Amino acid sequence: MDIKKIMVVGAGQMGGGIAQVAAQAGITVVLNDIKPEFVEKGLGLITKNLDRNIAKGKLTEEDKKAALSRIIKSTSLEDAKDVDVVIEAAIENMAIKAEIFKTLDKVTPARAILATNTSSLPITEIAAVTNRPAQVIGMHFFNPVPVMKLVEIIRGIATSDEVYKTIEAMTLKMDKTPVEINDSPGFAVNRMLIPMINEAIFCVYEGVGTPEAIDNVMKFGANHPMGPIALADMIGLDTCLSIMDVLYEGFKDPKYRACPLLRKMVKAGWLGQKSGRGFYSYAQK
Ligand code: NAD
Repeated sequence: MDIKKIMVVGAGQMGGGIAQVAAQAGITVVLNDIKPEFVEKGLGLITKNLDRNIAKGKLTEEDKKAALSRIIKSTSLEDAKDVDVVIEAAIENMAIKAEIFKTLDKVTPARAILATNTSSLPITEIAAVTNRPAQVIGMHFFNPVPVMKLVEIIRGIATSDEVYKTIEAMTLKMDKTPVEINDSPGFAVNRMLIPMINEAIFCVYEGVGTPEAIDNVMKFGANHPMGPIALADMIGLDTCLSIMDVLYEGFKDPKYRACPLLRKMVKAGWLGQKSGRGFYSYAQK
């Protein structure tokens, strides 16, 4: 199936980015959110991103106009009645995603593929609320979407080969690098990355080194572009904690125990860059 028209549900940080790259790839995008102002906010961010690329000489004014002309605003899931694919990027909440998928199952054409950009919820469980589990799949983009190349394409237990191939082809058309992954807690990137960050936090907790020291050893000894503690502050400490808890719950293995210091900081509201304070202070920025 050649994908011509999609809906993106959720016009936030991720949904806006997904809509932008799809529109730039020539796909018509229905951008959906619960309120018109949220759709406008998403469109505003897309416009700003495109303008930045024009300033850098990577894009022309015509490219920008063409991309924006392919985005249709929506506040009703009924607008998915003629799409080939839906990519859901609403908030990370199982009850909300289940409601969205139940509705999409009713309103989209029988051929439509329903994808989710969830970063931690099981694809198989989301698929089970629909009557088309073979056509439900994970498309895990990374932030910021226009910059990051990877899309983990996650197969639920029932996802068909044909659906996988269609989504793989669409990912390539969006100029991204697809990697096939099976449904498992944390998928692949977060299963490796977040325990590494958690271990770095244990090093701070146990006094092995200061946050600066732990970051420096990984930057200069392992050639990481950014240290794990600074990365944790950037991702958000609440997000890191929730992924550790998903791994712990999913595997029931103590090796995924979140560091008590991480839990304490989240309880204090020290969430990293977004709250102005994490392991580092961002007050002046
Ligand atoms: P966000 O808060 O920036 O955006 C979520 C948007 O969804 C909001 O605009 C909200 O109004 C909208 N929304 C909420 N309920 C809705 C509904 N019922 N119907 C339509 N829209 C609804 O969040 P985000 O960071 O863009 O994350 C979105 C999804 O992407 C989550 O599942 C998250 O786990 C996943 N994800 C996030 C990242 C990241 O780094 N932020 C990376 C990969 C995946």
